[in-house]
Amino acid sequence: MRLDYLTIFPDYLAPLGLSLPGKAVESGLLEVHVHDLRQWTHDRHRTVDDTPYGGGAGMVMKPEPFGEAFAELGVGAGTTVVFTTPSGEPFTQALAAELSTRERLVFACGRYEGIDQRVIDHARDLAEVREVSLGDYVLNGGEVAALAITEAVVRLLPGFMGNAASLVEESHAGGLLEYPVYTKPPAWEGREVPAVLRSGDHGAIAAWRREQARRRTAERRPDLLAPSALEDGSPIVPAV
Ligand code: SAM
Repeated sequence: MRLDYLTIFPDYLAPLGLSLPGKAVESGLLEVHVHDLRQWTHDRHRTVDDTPYGGGAGMVMKPEPFGEAFAELGVGAGTTVVFTTPSGEPFTQALAAELSTRERLVFACGRYEGIDQRVIDHARDLAEVREVSLGDYVLNGGEVAALAITEAVVRLLPGFMGNAASLVEESHAGGLLEYPVYTKPPAWEGREVPAVLRSGDHGAIAAWRREQARRRTAERRPDLLAPSALEDGSPIVPAV
């Protein structure tokens, strides 16, 4: 998968070179290109913003640098342009899975009051466009959102995770939140690892985990509970 980022703060994307994404770049699974949007400006001040038509507070990102960037980067069929915006569709695991099937993602990172609407309309003429929100809050810029979206997407690529089984029982993978997890030592600060997890009884462990996942989901995110979570008919009792 190829990933391009259009930003006025390329340093914000430096973490893409770290940890698992960094390794995926080294192994050739990912191709990452971070572009300073100002390279497509032509004035002395390398201006990327201007005042909003109609008045109002703040500045708006100008269309021309984005237009030149799309042309030079060959944005067209086979590309999905992701505009990070608080007015976009909510980012979910399902959308991450959908985006993980794409060959190339181009992230357009907004700043100020956002990007001139004609850039989005123009991109739609060239390629697939997704306007994506990280959540119902406002960030200073789109870079952090682009990083979060990237991380959720690329960990779904075949070969990205050292152990693909890690993806199977995760929160949001199957509708329920993940059950609590424990590691050694068996007792710490007077708190013991639940005996069932040390029993070696795989059936009992699976049942305990499923019940914990159901309880946790009922308590924290009842909106996620699908009818399948209630299939065995037992009531979901919030954990105490
Ligand atoms: N005036 C805009 C509005 O009310 O929708 C908010 C602009 S925000 C200060 C600047 C940029 O940060 C946005 O263009 C977008 O790229 C990014 N951003 C802010 N909040 C975001 C969110 N929840 N999800 C994704 N991107 C966000």
